[in-house]
Amino acid sequence: MEFLELVATDFEQLQVLRDDARGVLAFVAIHDTSCGPAFGGIRRYAYRQPLEGAQDALRLAEAMTWKCALAGVPGGGGKTVIVDLAETDREAAYALVGQHVEEMGGRYYTGPDVGTEPSDLEVVARHTEFVARPGDAGPGNLAEPTALGVFAGIRAVAAQLGHADLDGLRVVVQGLGEVGRRLVDRLVADGAVVTVADIDRMAVQRAVEELGVSEVDTGRVLAVEADVFAPCALGGVIHDLSLQNLRAKAVAGSANNVLAAPEHGAELHRRGVLYAPDFLINSGALIHGALFHLTGAAPPPERIERIGTELAALLEESRLEDRPPEQIALDKARRRVAERGEGRRFMPRRRVGSGAGL
Ligand code: NAD
Repeated sequence: MEFLELVATDFEQLQVLRDDARGVLAFVAIHDTSCGPAFGGIRRYAYRQPLEGAQDALRLAEAMTWKCALAGVPGGGGKTVIVDLAETDREAAYALVGQHVEEMGGRYYTGPDVGTEPSDLEVVARHTEFVARPGDAGPGNLAEPTALGVFAGIRAVAAQLGHADLDGLRVVVQGLGEVGRRLVDRLVADGAVVTVADIDRMAVQRAVEELGVSEVDTGRVLAVEADVFAPCALGGVIHDLSLQNLRAKAVAGSANNVLAAPEHGAELHRRGVLYAPDFLINSGALIHGALFHLTGAAPPPERIERIGTELAALLEESRLEDRPPEQIALDKARRRVAERGEGRRFMPRRRVGSGAGL
């Protein structure tokens, strides 16, 4: 979709933060706050063009709205993208984002995403209370609930593929970062046969030595004969070309925006490949972080594991209706936002929250 078309599609806000002297360029996108404040982390990435960063912020913010709707979280979608340039002063970038989030007064809560580490969140937290604080004051490492949700989702996928449990299930995991490695730990513990790939050789070596998993070259990850392909690196991995090479029976992982375009979901469905919509299966961090913020307490693991139950129901609906699961899920999410939100915008009248959110 073209940039202007994207901006015109129901977004509430897109702001540009700049500090040329320190090489800072960031975008803050708010998609929809009709059901409550926007939730969404900070991504820092070396985009080829600044416009790609803005586009990413918009797409990721929209996905957060649908994630909230499906997860039953009274909130909406937002996202911050820092365009990582050679001249970027990292601390200044996170400080500027923190100041801006604070100025929004609770309309937007932020937290981690790709490229943002706990030390970066410490910088943000110096300037705003509306951030998932690392350490004891915050909700903890959000990759943990994300991995738990993805694991529950893979169990649901396995059941749909006719496996009573994970014993012997062949899973190929792309990306051994915060989420991927935790997911591999869980899969191996339950008897799955796991193959891993990462551009970080050390991460692969550690997983092979510590867990006895197999490795595959990053360029050959789709060609592995597997039951499940679990993308846990970046988005856009399912596209025209990769679809031709995919040998797995299902795609279920933590990455956001796995499908390069909606038609790729339709094509997966046509080929009989099960697909776990990203905005459902990876919602563990959102559920944990947002509920921690809104209620002051972390939800029990069963709240996250419900992702598996919901995915199982969705895959069954998809089979019965012969419709791609992400289309069914998206329709459901849009309906919920329209019914519950009634076109409102969330404008905090007083400061909301204790600073522990996502
Ligand atoms: P991360 O940065 O910790 O890990 C990503 C890993 O992918 C790194 O080890 C990196 O080396 C690897 N990688 C990058 N390109 C690769 C490639 N081409 N092939 C193989 N490996 C590659 O990120 P994360 O926090 O683990 O998140 C992973 C994905 O899950 C992201 O798309 C993120 O948006 C999504 N996600 C994360 C969370 C969370 O709680 N952390 C929540 C929801 C969604």
